[in-house]
Parts: sequence; structure tokens; C-alpha cells
Amino acid sequence: MKIPFNKNKFTFEDKKKIEKCLEEGFISSDGKYTELVCLQINELLNSKNILMTTSGTHALEIAALLANIKENDEVIMPSYSFPSTANAVLLRGGKPIFVDIELSTLSISLDLIKKRLTKDTKAIIPVHYGGISCDMDKLLTLSKEENIYIIEDSAQAFLSKYKNKFLGTLGNFGCYSFHGTKNIVSGEGGAILINDKKFLDRAECIIQKGTNRKSFIDGLVDKYTWVDLGSSYAPSDLLMCLLYTQLEKIMEYTKNRNLIFNVYNKYFERIVDGNKVISKITIPEYNECNYHLYYIILSSEELRNKVIHELSKKNIDARFHFMPLHLSKMGKKLGYKQGDFPITEIVANGLLRLPIYNTMSIAEAEYVAESVLKIIAQI
Ligand SMILES: *Cc1c(COP(=O)(O)O)cnc(C)c1O
Repeated sequence: MKIPFNKNKFTFEDKKKIEKCLEEGFISSDGKYTELVCLQINELLNSKNILMTTSGTHALEIAALLANIKENDEVIMPSYSFPSTANAVLLRGGKPIFVDIELSTLSISLDLIKKRLTKDTKAIIPVHYGGISCDMDKLLTLSKEENIYIIEDSAQAFLSKYKNKFLGTLGNFGCYSFHGTKNIVSGEGGAILINDKKFLDRAECIIQKGTNRKSFIDGLVDKYTWVDLGSSYAPSDLLMCLLYTQLEKIMEYTKNRNLIFNVYNKYFERIVDGNKVISKITIPEYNECNYHLYYIILSSEELRNKVIHELSKKNIDARFHFMPLHLSKMGKKLGYKQGDFPITEIVANGLLRLPIYNTMSIAEAEYVAESVLKIIAQI
């Protein structure tokens, strides 16, 4: 059996729909598929103001623009994330302030956030790693008390919930990704949820290259012009056509991911021994998960890499990530060093991600789980 880490599968019907879009001939932004996708997502999330973007990265950049982050502004975020979270802030001249995560959720530590608050704190970016969040009620209370923005990096959390509300709908802004590695995909693509309506007009201008083209499309002005900062953040309708085919299947996909997740959980019920394996993914009571990923955390980098190597011999593609932002070349330039965030470093060294994808079969998951258990027993 050969098990890839991730797999995108498109059906004959999907291809027919793409062909139809090409025949219709409209492939730039704001066509009918963008509209359909927005309607569908707003319905799914019970939200009102979703705007489609060219990537999750760009959704974060738009949020940073809307929060008006500028020189000397500080934005607190976990070091355990993808560079886009920090770049969005740096691109505005702001200062990313990294903090450590909790081992139980791999989400930002609320206690540590409190220690890093200053008069310059402008925003906090919680990263909902693997579709799991920190205690959002506590975070939102803190943000209200301190009058700071919450930008949810929900890139991995589309359809995950916190206490019956969708992640991405709780902060001022929610940023999603539909990159080829996420649960539903348009290859590259994303969306930003504007939860605070007062930002909507500005968001539409930013996405439309800094113009009021949206007002023109809506018939509110008779010509459109340059009104604000902005960029080319609106996705091609051809990609939105692809995303539309994915949205039709999202419930089925999530259900299958849940099955795979449960297979792993069954096999790994007793895997955490505090010796070779120090943790595994656990969904907190307050979350409902989209099952974006499955991980276990080994006790050392050497052990983790050995398991990956042995799995590859069995044709199983398992992986790790993230390189902590504070230990990257850019992080060091910002003044961070080894030892700053102990949990992040333990996690980055030991985390092992197992294959999980929309069309994965139970037999495939069982093969992976059995192989992992065998390998760990032998080393
Ligand atoms: C995938 C991801 C991003 C970036 O999304 P893109 O659509 O690839 O730009 C940002 N943050 C996190 C946590 C991610 O997993």
C-alpha cells in the first residue's frame, strides 16, 4: 500500500463544471462562481460578510490593513505558526510579538499573552492549529478589556467550532485558506470574514486594488476610482468554480476525515507513555473539529525523524512542521533565540503528522496506525 500525506481528488463531474466555466468564458474576479461560493459559505457559517481572496496569506494581510497596523504597533501571536501570520504584521511595519503555546492544544497560551501586553499592543492573532482553538471566551474578554483586535488565523479551521460558533466568526476578522493542503481547496485561495460590519466597505476597496469598484458594480457610483490602499486580492472565478465543486462535498469530506481521525484515536488510545510519545492530538470539550490533521508528539527530534524514515520505507508519507518562527532566520533577526519558547521547541522537534485526506480509506488509516505502533515499539 502506498499512502500519500495528502491527496486532492477531482471527479469527472468537477471537471465538467470547470469546462463549463471555461466555455462561459468569464475567468477574472467577481463572477458568478465567486458569488455562489460567498452565498454558500455565508450559509454554512451563518455569517454575512465573507470576501474571497487569492490566499489565506492575503486574507491575513487584508486583516492587518483593516486593523490599521503601523510602525511601533505590537501584535501578539504564537511562534508556532506559518510565516504568513508574522509577515502580515511586518509588511505593515508592525512588530510581531511571539509567545509560547499550550501543549494540550498547540494554541497560544492566554497566560503568556497577558505578560506581553503593552500600551502598543494593537492586535492578537490566535492560530487555530489543526482546527483547534484556545479558550476563545477568555481571549475575547481580554481583547475587549484591553481594546485590541482579534484576527483569527483560521487557515486550518474552516468549519471547526468553538462552543457551537464557527472559528473565524468570533474575532474582528477570520482568515481562511483553501490552499491545496487544506480540507477544501482551490489550489491557492482564501477568504476573510469581516465580523465587524464597519470594516466592510474598506475591505471591499482593499480587495479591489484600492478602488471603489464594488460600489460601481453595485450601481452606487457611475465610475470607479482609486480611494484607498489595496492590492490584487480577488481570486479568479475559474478557481472559485473549483472551490464551488469542493463546497458541495464538504460535509461528506468532513465525515470521512472524522472516521479516519477515530481510527487513529482507537489505535493510539494508549500511545502516550511519557517516554517515547509525550502527547497526541486531543480535541478540547469546547471545540468541534474539522479534522484537518492528526498528530502525535515524540520525545525527541531524533526519534521523530527515525519514525518518519521507517514509515517512508513502508511507503507511508508522514511529515512534520512548523519550524518555529522565533528560530527562523527572520525570527532571529527580530531578536529571538533558542530556548525562548520551550513548549514550541519541544513540539516542533517531536511533532509527527500522519496522512489524512478527504478520500482516505479506513484500511489505509489502519495500515498507517499499525505501522506507527510497530515502528515505535521497535525503536
Ligand atoms: C496554510 C496556512 C496559512 C497560509 O494560507 P495560504 O492560503 O497558503 O496563503 C496561514 N496560516 C496557517 C496557520 C496555515 O496553516
